[in-house]
Amino acid sequence: ALDAVTFGEVMAMFVAGQAGPLEQVEQYRRALAGAEYNVAVGLARLGHRTGWIGRVGDDPFGHYALAELARHGIDASLVTVDPAAPTAFQIKSSAPGGEPRVVYFRAHSAGSRLAPSAAADARVAGARHLHATGIPLALSAELRAFAHRAVTVARGVGATVSVDPNLRPALWPDRRTMVRAVNDLALRADWVLPGVAEGEVLTGRREPEGIAAWYLERGVRLVAVKRGAQGAELYTADGERWSCPPFAVEAVDTVGAGDGFAAGLISASLDGEPREAWLARASAVGALATTSTGDQDGLPDRAALAALVGEGVPR
Ligand code: ATP
Repeated sequence: ALDAVTFGEVMAMFVAGQAGPLEQVEQYRRALAGAEYNVAVGLARLGHRTGWIGRVGDDPFGHYALAELARHGIDASLVTVDPAAPTAFQIKSSAPGGEPRVVYFRAHSAGSRLAPSAAADARVAGARHLHATGIPLALSAELRAFAHRAVTVARGVGATVSVDPNLRPALWPDRRTMVRAVNDLALRADWVLPGVAEGEVLTGRREPEGIAAWYLERGVRLVAVKRGAQGAELYTADGERWSCPPFAVEAVDTVGAGDGFAAGLISASLDGEPREAWLARASAVGALATTSTGDQDGLPDRAALAALVGEGVPR
């Protein structure tokens, strides 16, 4: 049995080795990308038994992903190698101090062909927690079905379910379709973890409190609103409210902070920590995720987490 399970698409990522437009970049450094994969790495590094479900192509990128899953000790027994479709990849510009440009090569990828199965149902049913994001919903009808099926199975066995909206407007035909599809899934979750800008798109409300209330009124039990370098706030259906200022770190690449945050929150829950400690762990893992350029390199083990959180619990 697993502590936590997640699913989605993992991609090879090529990060520009020099600043400037991607059209002119000559050298790239290879890495792996995928929001749910990042969360799985974060959980595994904290010692939780973690599974990731997906499909990769029978190509060097796919075999690289399998090797990385194994290296991190993530259960990948339900990762299928697709003989007929390629592993997706993306290229990312180097934009020190700014937002990098990301270009995807992911249409018709192996990852988009993950479909529901009895084996996946059994794996999800054996885990204490399911984590999903809004990205698979944009990729294919099969993945959309997989996401809803996984939530149904997890809820059926009494596992907790978290959804990080992870809005990717570039992957959707229009904003309305995106908002409807992501909220359809989010409203079936126990926890929803939007960034504040995403929360505004999804609920039409501007402030963290209003965004949280929108979900809590509709049956979600816990909402964490992420505010980047301004910290995060957590609201529960029991009327609790916590806020956590950002931990002081040297941020070099903020991509993946939200995934680290999710891993930290899930980790605190799996450990049976008191609710007031959850947000601090989530915020600390999110902060540490920003301290390296790779999407997973900054994710802490227990020692690195303890070193940052220390004895005090910010609130
Ligand atoms: P992304 O999708 O890019 O990973 P996100 O919007 O999901 O981002 P953020 O709000 O950027 O998530 O980050 C999640 C959490 O990580 C924040 O709420 C905060 O606790 C922590 N964090 C992010 N950036 C910083 C930073 N520069 N310094 C300290 N903590 C940070």
